[in-house]
Amino acid sequence: MSDRGLSEEQRMMRQSCRDFVDDTVIPFIRSNWRGEWSMEPEGRLPPRILEAADRIGIRTLGVPEEFGGVELDPASEVQTFAIISEEIARGDSGLSDKLVQNWKVSVLLRNLLPRPLQEQWFPRLVADPQFLLAHCLTEPRGASDRWLPYNVPEAAMATRAEKKGGEWVINGRKQFISNGYDASLYVVYASTNPKVGMLQGTSSFLVPRNTPGLTVARCNETLGCRYMNNGELVFEDMRVPADHLLVEGDALSKAAVYFRPGKIIQASKNLGVGVRAFEMTADYVQNYVQGGRILLKHQAVALRIADMATRIEAVRALLARAAAAVDERADDADALCNMVKVYASEEIMKVAQHAVELHGGNGMMLDFGIEKLFRDAAIFLHMDATVDVSKFKIVKSLFPHTAGAYAGPEG
Ligand SMILES: Cc1cc2nc3c(=O)[nH]c(=O)nc-3n(C[C@H](O)[C@H](O)[C@H](O)COP(=O)(O)OP(=O)(O)OC[C@H]3O[C@@H](n4cnc5c(N)ncnc54)[C@H](O)[C@@H]3O)c2cc1C
Repeated sequence: MSDRGLSEEQRMMRQSCRDFVDDTVIPFIRSNWRGEWSMEPEGRLPPRILEAADRIGIRTLGVPEEFGGVELDPASEVQTFAIISEEIARGDSGLSDKLVQNWKVSVLLRNLLPRPLQEQWFPRLVADPQFLLAHCLTEPRGASDRWLPYNVPEAAMATRAEKKGGEWVINGRKQFISNGYDASLYVVYASTNPKVGMLQGTSSFLVPRNTPGLTVARCNETLGCRYMNNGELVFEDMRVPADHLLVEGDALSKAAVYFRPGKIIQASKNLGVGVRAFEMTADYVQNYVQGGRILLKHQAVALRIADMATRIEAVRALLARAAAAVDERADDADALCNMVKVYASEEIMKVAQHAVELHGGNGMMLDFGIEKLFRDAAIFLHMDATVDVSKFKIVKSLFPHTAGAYAGPEG
């Protein structure tokens, strides 16, 4: 992999991450393949892994330096997020999921959280290596439509927040939330005005885990990315103080500081899965012998390897362009973010398919480890919006006046 265009700081961060992945993460994954299937989420990832991530400073990226976090150069922050998250996902994409939620939500909180609450929460996040953050939008009857979004009252979130006295009272539920099962602090979105479109009527709140009325209902057992504990939350007359309101009304628009880096990070984690699939397959085809020759000498195998490498490079190129657009706050950043997120998900799925096919029967064996990458790749098609909805979003960004509304009165 070339160092083209990386700063000295980015090269150093990538190297320490690579050492962490090669020395700690990959050996853990290889020797604990049974542990991935434990149905007890608490012990699935031993605490020592997050402790090691913490020691090299990659758990608190995005947290302001004054609170002990690791602040990156703002001119290239998102590009650096991409480099680091790819590298971690090369070791394990579930671990990468766990960590990147901390970065993305920290960026959101440093923009929106009142100062006294930043003083309260950021130091706790920094002090505890197991402290995780989560971002809760998706509900049983609403996710993809939120991403378009249908800006009509009928599409509003079913989770409702009402102001009573000096508090907000929240009722509803959220599903499929990354880190939802074990986070210490949540950002929760709820409708505060059901009479208007969701872009005007949705608010966001800070919700500590021990808030009365909050129940972590279950951990979802997922196909891939299994070291991130995806969870379901129920809110029953959950009360949060007035100052825990982050944004009133236009919370979805204000969350662009979360969504744009978020799409880049999705694509870069996805790329990391593809890179690992390529590394393992390149090694296999240069050592495994069939028909008297190593696999790579067979032309059909060579073609597939070329296809894998080309798809990975194409994703990497679009990712670099999209990440730079987000750092530059360019007009086309929104379209590019969605393009790279969806493009990576489809291309890396094909890379992973080649990987398992080139491993033959070994490709289907749990202890061999290549099938894990196929499962991990499949998750990206659905995370942070589905493929089809992402494509709608691209068209909406390109043609805001003609393709901008999908529901409500003819426009
Ligand atoms: C591993 C994982 C982690 C996740 N983490 C989070 C998280 O941290 N926070 C969070 O809030 N959410 C999270 N999600 C939820 C994720 O964003 C949603 O699963 C995703 O947006 C799809 O929504 P859905 O599951 O409700 O599917 P649906 O919206 O029910 O989609 C089902 C199908 O219908 C199609 N569809 C839906 N609406 C339309 C439409 N209007 N037009 C055309 N086709 C449509 C979709 O493309 C899809 O094919 C996570 C999901 C996964 C799998």
